[in-house]
Amino acid sequence: EARSENKWDVVIIGGGQAALATAYFLRRTGLSFVMLDAEDGPGGAWRHGWDSLRLFSPATWSSIAGWMMPPVQEGYPSRDHVIDYLTRYETRYQLPIQRPVRVTSIERINGALRVHAEQGHWDAKAVVSATGTWSNPHIPSYPGSELFRGQQLHSAHYVDAQAFVGKRVLVVGGGNSGAQILAEVSKAADAIWVTPTEPLFLPDDVDGRVLFERATERWKAQQEGRVIEQPAGGLGDVVMVPPVVEARERGVLHAVRPFERFTRDGVIWPDGSESAADAVIWCTGFKPALGHLAGLGLVTEEGRVAVEGTRAINEPRLWLVGYGEWTGSASATLIGVTRTARSTAAEIEQCLAKTEA
Ligand code: FAD
Repeated sequence: EARSENKWDVVIIGGGQAALATAYFLRRTGLSFVMLDAEDGPGGAWRHGWDSLRLFSPATWSSIAGWMMPPVQEGYPSRDHVIDYLTRYETRYQLPIQRPVRVTSIERINGALRVHAEQGHWDAKAVVSATGTWSNPHIPSYPGSELFRGQQLHSAHYVDAQAFVGKRVLVVGGGNSGAQILAEVSKAADAIWVTPTEPLFLPDDVDGRVLFERATERWKAQQEGRVIEQPAGGLGDVVMVPPVVEARERGVLHAVRPFERFTRDGVIWPDGSESAADAVIWCTGFKPALGHLAGLGLVTEEGRVAVEGTRAINEPRLWLVGYGEWTGSASATLIGVTRTARSTAAEIEQCLAKTEA
């Protein structure tokens, strides 16, 4: 139960990597803060990753501020490895996280923001929203989808291929989730990979490391007002992790362009032919989870908030960390969030010092 005098310098909403990294820098400022996280335990969205999920960079390139992710024996870190790392990170820095607390709304009160949850409310001079995207999966609309009697599942809720053995499955989406899930499901099911445009595969020797280096080069150039040329290939392109290479060797890594509409039992393709389908797995991405900000009137039609750096332009007490390129280059990745977490904490410290003076 919340105290009636529940006042803080800063409230951080979320308990994933973005929240932890911001907390790491905030705890060095001496400001008082509390973290409110909707999950039952540590790990943020990684708690919901599918069983076989592998990172696309080695452990040393998958760390947040201050303490490196422990190395893995072989290959790329697994989902459980990340959860274990974030769990130990919280303990190591004794981060003040309350769980499960789902923030429902934020209200402007005299000189502060009041953060509401079922359990009570918290008043803060500054609020950091770090709620990620996992709880807001995006599914594109296709005609007739309401008619389709088969199963529809977003990658957010995909666990493993067990549920699809012997079935006819459409895997929709051309990013890393689509490629990895297609690679796995195609071993158990009759799978068709559907992508709006031809998927972009990175060369076999390019992994997250290279992408992060490029993101850093872009960031530096931007800071210095330079324009630089870079090879094609971005954070959304498919990294050839071992299961995806294996799928290519099996000859199943081919995508077709989308169907026109659903029927009760499958889909109709642009040439008029029909395929029966038992299930569709939507690997079509996420949108920022900003429902708790709705009442502040800040969320745009694209589901974002106008920011300068990470600070909300129309609400000077609010910062947004970790959502994607719009909140900082590579900020929706483990290694990439450090830069914006650091600058956010510094900015908050500066602002609160000013208002106190
Ligand atoms: P989250 O981890 O989603 O944390 C947000 C937290 O806020 C959650 O605990 C959530 O419960 C909580 N929350 C949400 N709403 C509320 C609310 N209203 N009140 C209170 N709490 C709330 N990144 C890499 O660096 N390397 C990779 O290899 C990599 N692979 C990926 C593979 C997949 C399939 C996916 C989906 C992502 C991958 N990422 C990778 C991207 C990225 O690291 C994750 O998306 C990351 O989880 C984002 O962290 P976050 O802290 O911003 O959000």
